[in-house]
Amino acid sequence: MESDMRLLVTRWQGVIAHYRDFLPVSEKTPIITLHEGNTPLIRSRWIERMLDERMEVYLKFEGTNPTGSFKDRGMTVAVSKALERGLTIGICASTGNTSASAAAYCGVAGMKCAIVVPAGKIAAGKLSQALAHGAIICAVHGSFDDALKIVRELTKEMPVALLNSVNPERIEGQKTCAFEICDAIGDAPDFHILPVGNAGNITSHWKGYREYYEAKRISQLPVMVGVQAEGASPLVKGEPIANPETIATAIRIGNPASWHSAIRARDESNGTIIAVSDEAIVDAYRILARREGLFVEPASAASVAGLMKLAQEGYFEGKFEELRKERNIDRDRPIVVCILTGHGLKDPQTALQTFQLPEPLPPTVNAVKRAIEQVI
Ligand SMILES: *Cc1c(COP(=O)(O)O)cnc(C)c1O
Repeated sequence: MESDMRLLVTRWQGVIAHYRDFLPVSEKTPIITLHEGNTPLIRSRWIERMLDERMEVYLKFEGTNPTGSFKDRGMTVAVSKALERGLTIGICASTGNTSASAAAYCGVAGMKCAIVVPAGKIAAGKLSQALAHGAIICAVHGSFDDALKIVRELTKEMPVALLNSVNPERIEGQKTCAFEICDAIGDAPDFHILPVGNAGNITSHWKGYREYYEAKRISQLPVMVGVQAEGASPLVKGEPIANPETIATAIRIGNPASWHSAIRARDESNGTIIAVSDEAIVDAYRILARREGLFVEPASAASVAGLMKLAQEGYFEGKFEELRKERNIDRDRPIVVCILTGHGLKDPQTALQTFQLPEPLPPTVNAVKRAIEQVI
């Protein structure tokens, strides 16, 4: 019994161990892992009902990764490869989660980590992670896009490992999310919805599906749906945005580094990239927390906001009818996966502002009773 338990605990060794054949590692690569990946794919209970049971909706909760976002999938590969090359410093620009993840993995590798972040724009949880893991924090007066420009220049002048998603090894690691979805469902979903900021993740997920398709692990490719926030929607507008603004800080990016591969993912999959309002993001944020039991950060809720918006517009009916004919699908409802990219605990300030903490009460039974009775 005891040894069985031990087996259960130790079986999952992270995304490199599990998907080694699809990743750029060899026996020479020292594997730096926090056993990331293997995140839950959860059938939605309430969202399906809100959509009149017209589709099967699954939520891939990436918030259970070791540092609380999908960035860990890419970081295990990028940091392992940096260590293999003998590099001793990792560097990245970040809206928060990349720096949290880079700091943790560099720490394990015995490497230093420097992060360049827009001053005053990083959610408290993420900044405290980077601090706790011992990163050198350079906050600059500027945007994420400015920070990334600085970091890219620096990598030309110093022997450092660039740990942003412009590093192709990050993309390689992050594609394992698509693999896990296929392994769980038994095939690719019909629609794959995710938030898009710097556009590394949509690039990597599409790459993952294509590789699984080529390896004949799946019989179809999904339609890719990218979701941006209205105030930070360069891919929808077709041009960079100088001062991106949105409550969803992880996707507050005006000039995505992986612009072209995001457009390619959209077009090759016959999909779409749409923009949703901050109000719609907050609505989805609330539904996910209240009804699905999933506390995500606002950027992650964008995928569900996108699902709701497209469902309202009748997008899925038309599109799924096309797919059914093309692919001889005999299911009568589409399978939709929404990626929930990061944990809600990352950004407690937004939660406290959105859900509003009530005033303290006098310490009496009556006061508490009245407070409860007011809302039931
Ligand atoms: C990084 C991040 C995104 C955006 O991913 P890109 O690869 O930059 O498009 C979305 N949500 C969360 C929580 C993130 O950390």
